[in-house]
Amino acid sequence: TISLAVIDKMGNMAVGTSTNGATFKIPGRVGDGPIAGSSAYADTEVGACGATGDGDIMMRFLPCYQVVESMRLGMEPKLAAQDAIARIARKYPDFVGAIFAVNKNGVHAGACHGWTFQYSVRSPEMADVIVYTVTPEMPIR
Ligand code: ASP
Repeated sequence: TISLAVIDKMGNMAVGTSTNGATFKIPGRVGDGPIAGSSAYADTEVGACGATGDGDIMMRFLPCYQVVESMRLGMEPKLAAQDAIARIARKYPDFVGAIFAVNKNGVHAGACHGWTFQYSVRSPEMADVIVYTVTPEMPIR
């Protein structure tokens, strides 16, 4: 899955997801990619989030919607991302997945469970893309 978030020069935010779906998926399966709030979500007033991983589990939690709503209530992107992952891991300790979060100011973070995750960031003032590596952390609740 490739999930991405963009902020334009007016401050508008948008997200998108492209995926080939889960390995060995059943023909006709609708994964988390097209489910708003599951693999991606954005609100220009708050921030954005993208996800990858076991979509059949993650779509039950709408983790990207959760992240944006947590940021709306004042959580920093890092904590919002960790919280959304922890909510899933509490019910599904073996799940594999990851999310990135970015607020409207461009502050970004990632959180993951069951694997190490990388996301990349690029803005006009940067000479090149920077790749961030996120390692799994203990659930925060
Ligand atoms: N989330 C995708 C799916 O379950 C898989 C992936 O992230 O690679 O369809």
